[in-house]
Amino acid sequence: MKIDYGREIKRVIVKVGTSTLTHENGTINIERMEQLVRGLVDISNKGYEVILVSSGAVGAGVGKLHKKKKPTTLPEKQAVAAIGQVTLMHLYEKFFGEYNKVVGQILLTRDDLANRKRNLNAKNTLLALLQFGAIPIINENDTVAVDEIKVGDNDHLAAYVASLIDGDLLIILSDIDGLYTKNPATCKDGVLVEKVEKITAEIEAYAGCEGSCFGTGGMMTKIKAAKIGTAAGVFVVIGNGNEKNLIADVVKGDFRGTIFIPHNKKIHTKKKWLLLSSKPKGTIIIDEGAQDALLKEGKSLLAIGITAVEGNFEADAVVSIKNALGKEIGRGITYYNSVNIEKIKGKKTKEMTKILDDEYEFDTVIHRDNMSVLNM
Ligand code: GLU
Repeated sequence: MKIDYGREIKRVIVKVGTSTLTHENGTINIERMEQLVRGLVDISNKGYEVILVSSGAVGAGVGKLHKKKKPTTLPEKQAVAAIGQVTLMHLYEKFFGEYNKVVGQILLTRDDLANRKRNLNAKNTLLALLQFGAIPIINENDTVAVDEIKVGDNDHLAAYVASLIDGDLLIILSDIDGLYTKNPATCKDGVLVEKVEKITAEIEAYAGCEGSCFGTGGMMTKIKAAKIGTAAGVFVVIGNGNEKNLIADVVKGDFRGTIFIPHNKKIHTKKKWLLLSSKPKGTIIIDEGAQDALLKEGKSLLAIGITAVEGNFEADAVVSIKNALGKEIGRGITYYNSVNIEKIKGKKTKEMTKILDDEYEFDTVIHRDNMSVLNM
């Protein structure tokens, strides 16, 4: 497929998963890793800025300890990640070093991204590394991250990072060519979806892992990551990590894979942070009219469009905005706390001012400037 990006592509984030990097017994697949490094060095030499998000710490740790499978207790899992991360970085440093490239390791947790101050620190460090001409290699800080502070998977982590540093292109390397209408391994009539302008329910259903038709469990997290990336103005590509020249081909705009087109060219830093702030304090459910106003007309959220509110939160909290089907359509900072939203939901502005009396401040519950909507 040929694609015209229509703007300069400069900052490229590449995500590689454990299955691409390791053999089934957990040891590192050296050939693949070298091939990946060569691909990255090549585009870096051409002048692209390259950021690598690499999994494989747990896998490599299991391999290094000659264990048959992943341990089950948390301290053991974290210890295995600590061992594997060193192996991973040792090899990256060696391979990149062969081509005179310097690497820097950044390990992040969700809090580093969700907390505005810390995410600014992470961003500045990443930008400084790029200025040094170094290649940042990022992973989740598995050794300290427990469920509550975890991003959880590196597809999301890569999308958050791409958003954080104003990336132009995110390439998610997979073990298949991209998103198929049906799993090509089990259904012969599965067709590769080349270009996705909007992540609709139909697109999500392709990745749905339902029945026997879709076995690649990882596709759903990739679609979700694509939603975050495209909402932040990043082109997202899913392609086959086994393809030798994939990275160079993608930056050239001539490749086999699935591309997700961003729906915003530029997005305000605060709005990006809303997407990064992966721990909303509550949820506001809206009706169809409000959904159209938000998604199609770029409007603010009014009380009349709210049907329900979940969770206890103060004014100025980040909340998730969902439709009647429970689908997240965006995130925003509310002007009112959950108790007041409960009182004014479904009400017209006039009634709302009466109900809130001297607590009334604004007509909108979430102003457009404080809202980020997802590409759907
Ligand atoms: N951070 C994990 C690791 O390095 C991988 C997470 C993922 O596969 O998405 O093993």
